[in-house]
Amino acid sequence: MNKVILITGGSRGIGAATALLAAKKGYDVCINYLRNEAAAAQVVAAVKNEGRNAVAIQADVSNASEVTRLFKEFDKAFGRLDGLVNNAGILETQMKVLEMSPGRLERVFSANVFSTFYCSIEAVRRMSTHNGGNGGSIVNLSSVASRTGSPNEYVDYAAAKGAIDTFTIGLAKEVAVEGIRVNAVRPGFIYTDIHASGGEPNRVDRVKEMVPMKRGGYPEEVAGAIVWLLSGEASFTSGAFIDVAGGR
Ligand code: NAP
Repeated sequence: MNKVILITGGSRGIGAATALLAAKKGYDVCINYLRNEAAAAQVVAAVKNEGRNAVAIQADVSNASEVTRLFKEFDKAFGRLDGLVNNAGILETQMKVLEMSPGRLERVFSANVFSTFYCSIEAVRRMSTHNGGNGGSIVNLSSVASRTGSPNEYVDYAAAKGAIDTFTIGLAKEVAVEGIRVNAVRPGFIYTDIHASGGEPNRVDRVKEMVPMKRGGYPEEVAGAIVWLLSGEASFTSGAFIDVAGGR
């Protein structure tokens, strides 16, 4: 039977690049998305073009009951789970901490952190060898922001990614004996749509001089690290971080 992975936020950017690379490596892929049905359908078509099975499922992973429904629909479509990529994430408009509203903080922490908890809980239930599962791999999308703090722009987002780092370390230790590895990838400045949501679509080109390699990264370069962590080649790697940030 083919191995199956679920990617949250698989319709665009890093998630979409991961879906395509995983398909090339032989995985069937479930693509979760929030509202861009057309983009999700394109990723499904690209995966099928590689000869693998793909299904897109709409669900807001920042909401616990939506995640329950997502995994029920996933079970019906695939019947087994080998890997989860907690990729869905958001930024809001650049501002200083003193200007951040409670509503914004709730949205940023729900979409980046709570989503990762909700989906990981469902995935561990299905993959744990203690529950009759086959084991598996969870890859969390953190960010270099967890190390830099993103001052004057998105300290909320950076702190949420700091929580993802700590979650990765803790869950990795909890489920290691259940055949599940948990790791994180920390991208730097990557050319995707996420920067437009922060109010600056061309942000990567503005800040790329800060990168030792003097350039931004591409979603496919992040996907390479994610798919390696999903694979058996990373069989003794857990609780680890791969920075994909041009040396930053
Ligand atoms: P992106 O291009 O903005 O794409 C975001 C994806 O997440 C879309 O597929 C979107 O779905 C989905 N999404 C957003 N909120 C969701 C929700 N509540 N429920 C379900 N899906 C949701 O983002 P990206 O740049 O590829 O980022 C992917 C991950 O990498 C994020 O965790 C981000 O924080 C992290 N990261 C990115 C960078 C960077 O420079 N790009 C750097 C460091 C870390 P729709 O298409 O339906 O809207």
